[in-house]
Amino acid sequence: MAQGTFQKGGDVILTDSVETLKGIGPKTAEILKKVGIKTVRDFFYNLPRDYENFQAATSISEVKPGKVVVKGKIENLASRRARRRNLSIVEGTIKDDTGSIRVVWFNQTYRLRQFTPDKEYLFSGTFELKNGRFQLTSPSSALYSDVDLKSGLSPIYVAHGGLKTADFRRFLNSARDKFAEIPDLLPFVDPGVRRESLFRAHFPDSNESIKKAREYLAYEELFELILAAKMNRLENEKLKSTPIHFDVQKIRDFVGSLPFKLTNAQRRATWEIFQDMEKGQPMNRLLQGDVGSGKTMVAALAAYEAFASGEQVALLAPTAILATQHFEGISKLLSKFGVKTALLTGATKKKTELKKQIRSGEINVVIGTHALLTDDTEFLNLGLVIIDEQHRFGVEQRQKLALKSPKGLAPHLLSMTATPIPRSLQLTVFGDLDVSILDELPKGRQPITTKIMPEVEISDELYPRILDRVKAGEQVYWICKAIDDGANARSTGSLSAGTSSAADITSVKSRTKRLKEIFPKLKIEFLHGKMKPAEKDEIMEKFSGGKIDILVSTTVVEVGVDVPNATVIVIENAEGYGLAQLHQLRGRVGRGTAKSDCFLLTSGDTTPSRRLRELEKSSDGFYLAEVDLKLRGPGEIYGALQHGALDLRIASLSDTKLIARARKDADIFLSLGDKMLQYEELMMGISKYQQLTTLN
Ligand code: ADP
Ligand code: MG
Repeated sequence: MAQGTFQKGGDVILTDSVETLKGIGPKTAEILKKVGIKTVRDFFYNLPRDYENFQAATSISEVKPGKVVVKGKIENLASRRARRRNLSIVEGTIKDDTGSIRVVWFNQTYRLRQFTPDKEYLFSGTFELKNGRFQLTSPSSALYSDVDLKSGLSPIYVAHGGLKTADFRRFLNSARDKFAEIPDLLPFVDPGVRRESLFRAHFPDSNESIKKAREYLAYEELFELILAAKMNRLENEKLKSTPIHFDVQKIRDFVGSLPFKLTNAQRRATWEIFQDMEKGQPMNRLLQGDVGSGKTMVAALAAYEAFASGEQVALLAPTAILATQHFEGISKLLSKFGVKTALLTGATKKKTELKKQIRSGEINVVIGTHALLTDDTEFLNLGLVIIDEQHRFGVEQRQKLALKSPKGLAPHLLSMTATPIPRSLQLTVFGDLDVSILDELPKGRQPITTKIMPEVEISDELYPRILDRVKAGEQVYWICKAIDDGANARSTGSLSAGTSSAADITSVKSRTKRLKEIFPKLKIEFLHGKMKPAEKDEIMEKFSGGKIDILVSTTVVEVGVDVPNATVIVIENAEGYGLAQLHQLRGRVGRGTAKSDCFLLTSGDTTPSRRLRELEKSSDGFYLAEVDLKLRGPGEIYGALQHGALDLRIASLSDTKLIARARKDADIFLSLGDKMLQYEELMMGISKYQQLTTLN
């Protein structure tokens, strides 16, 4: 194929199975499908993670210690196991016309199958003295004929399900001609730019062409995301819902009955919610508030307002513990005003009867978990849905709930989250979502002191402090990553950002045992997700009621649990969690008026990560979210927020210029109206993004 620009777009069918490509048989297709590469489109868009530069290869007789690139054939490749550690070693010889050198790879047995004896390869790695012999250690490699001669560039792919860069190269080579047939996708972009960009991303000929290709592909991605968000908004505006009227007197009485004054932030958010709900189209609002900022109170106000206007309310929480706690808090607040509240979780007895009461409208506010979503839970007039920690719910679950509204009306939707969405994400993914922010903590809160502590110091430093606190009548959370000990220790952290291996992890059960030995007089219990719901509830109730001094738990307590009397949280193996999760966990303390402490335990043989140091410095969730974004990079943000499967391939969310351009273009595109439908592939792609970015 010519190196230049393509003349014509064509007829490759991007939605076809990847199997239709030459060189990809049913077996490979099966493997590819497992890693999410199902269609021809997925295949082209599996972009390189990075590029290796194999320029300036030296002949082997000239090789000097340090970074080197050599070209040669592989001989005598064999593997063995290292005696001491659990290590497999592949070694062999690289040979060219001038000489040969030893090459060694660790734990890369696939290298045995990678090389064809008579073909020439390029190797890039460090040439060094090891155990008295010179060797090239773990070099990267590429088939010589795959590497662009002029630039020396060769793409590197993320290894997937046993498939390595070399495999992807092979597939791409056999599909090389097909690139010329990739049709155009976007408006406002010159013909051919898409296929040229995809081709150059996989077959680069200069750093310049890579840059151009990536810029187009980032634009494409941002344009699709932003368009999806804008279309969601338009679609939401077409829906109808029952207006909920603002009853000033009732709200005043309710607020007057509270034991505290609302914060200004709570007032502002409530006001924004009331204004949305007065409209005949559904509210779609996200309430963002740092841990402890009092989101539940805002939810209660919204629920009361809906009740006063004759509507039913459903509040969905991610765990039974949290649902129970919301139920207790909210029913206490609202029952004085004639609101009938019910709890519906997996453990609820007499479900049929309860569901009857929900259907008849006898129950006004239902609080529950996924159990609320079953088809037989029907409402008489569901006017408002509140979702706590909304990122825990899948899109389908949210849609299911929306369907429960009667007569083709959509309920108003309020989502609440304590994981702030970084501003840059808000501009793109959630660009057109209404957001209220609780950026103020209730008065009288004491700041939480956070300290990184090597585990070896706990007996001297931590135990005495814990004892003091418990003697003062306060309570302690102790968070562990695993439930049981042993090689099969089940890790419960959903984000294992760290590297701690199962052997280093102290489990809930063994920590409980040890603490009981050290503090024989204290009441110590444990809690984890594998316990029966009733057991979990019982333990949480005891802890809330002050009947447990130290609660050793997995991250099941992470979300939302509110026990103001708990003032110490110890997080074991802190390096094993993501920043957002640690901030959430820390938010379990500092909820009352006493001073609180958070201890981040580390194994102590390495410097603490930036993540932990930032956490020690700041307790501002919005600041930490931005830091997290920077530390993780765009591809992982969505995972961090647990919003869904969106994985930004290439776009950088910090590229404000490109975002601005994509936003402007999306607006122009939307003004095309029905003409948009001509962009068939684009519209199909958008609908996927729409599902991911919608909140109702
Ligand atoms: P979160 O935003 O983390 O969900 P909660 O709604 O659980 O926070 O509130 C945390 C604690 O603060 C609760 O004990 C709640 O009763 C209390 N609280 C809420 N609003 C106020 C307020 N305006 N003044 C004082 N305490 C408040
Ligand atoms: Mg909460």
